[in-house]
Amino acid sequence: MMRSMSGRIPESLQKKLSDRLHFYEDLGVRLFYKQRGDLQVRPAATPAAESFAEPASQQISHEEAALPKSIRKPEPPKVTQLAPRFTPPSTESSRPMQKPDILPVPAGPSLFEAFDKVPDDTLLKIRTDLGECTRCKLHRTRNKIVFGDGNPKAELVFVGEGPGHDEDMQGLPFVGRAGKLLTQMIEAMGLQRKDVYICNVVKCRPPENRAPEKDEVTECSPFLLRQIDAIAPKVIVCLGSTAAQTVLETNRGISQFRGQWLDFRGRKLMATYHPAYLLRNPSAKSEVWKDLQKVMAVLGLEAKKGKSAEAGKSS
Ligand code: URA
Repeated sequence: MMRSMSGRIPESLQKKLSDRLHFYEDLGVRLFYKQRGDLQVRPAATPAAESFAEPASQQISHEEAALPKSIRKPEPPKVTQLAPRFTPPSTESSRPMQKPDILPVPAGPSLFEAFDKVPDDTLLKIRTDLGECTRCKLHRTRNKIVFGDGNPKAELVFVGEGPGHDEDMQGLPFVGRAGKLLTQMIEAMGLQRKDVYICNVVKCRPPENRAPEKDEVTECSPFLLRQIDAIAPKVIVCLGSTAAQTVLETNRGISQFRGQWLDFRGRKLMATYHPAYLLRNPSAKSEVWKDLQKVMAVLGLEAKKGKSAEAGKSS
């Protein structure tokens, strides 16, 4: 390969590339991409858009990364859509939702993902390591670090963007207006806040509630990834594009993969709209409710009577 490039690539760069390839070879990494097998793409059943009682269609995705983060170019999550393989649940609210078949998720983490993992990690250890963090500029304007809150053994983890004013004052995630809506969504799923774990990509409030900047996300996201690994949930729900793009390492807009099952280190991940977006665009609530119903199906949850309509209603 290097020979065919000669003449087009300066010698110094050729040498660097060659060294790097040898380095990966030493690590046992030889294939830099994999030919995907024929993925069956079949149309998913379309649930009646506005009805909360309708069964969610099941979409399965599969993402794998063979390269270390430093040289992996941002790529969209690979999504495989298969026809639903479960019988639609009864619309009678007294009957629990039927669980779908187990989704085919990839085996363990890649070699490079494994480097991020801390053996026997716990939330306490992660909080201790975070300390009175000054790793990024957000520490200068924060009032309280908002580490996360909820069940350390939760089956369901919600990941938001970063604390707002109320969260910064209380040191707790999602306690403001958007948080109240998230609480309603959780309760509509037949759960309580204490059943799930809620955290954010960045642990300190960005000034004026601006989106976290790249360097801030880079410093803080390893703590989020450790939190997810330590909790080991069945399902991760990313609220909004910052959370989804950070966890999935993609630049794609959330609307391109929202509502589809994705894989994160062998766990099921669903990206949906942020509750703050829903406050501005209530008509999107029904979309989010459909996404949450898919999560409920995987977790074997039954919608709380009356609450689903409340959380999912479009205005
Ligand atoms: N928005 C977020 O993304 N996180 C919070 O904790 C609160 C609002």
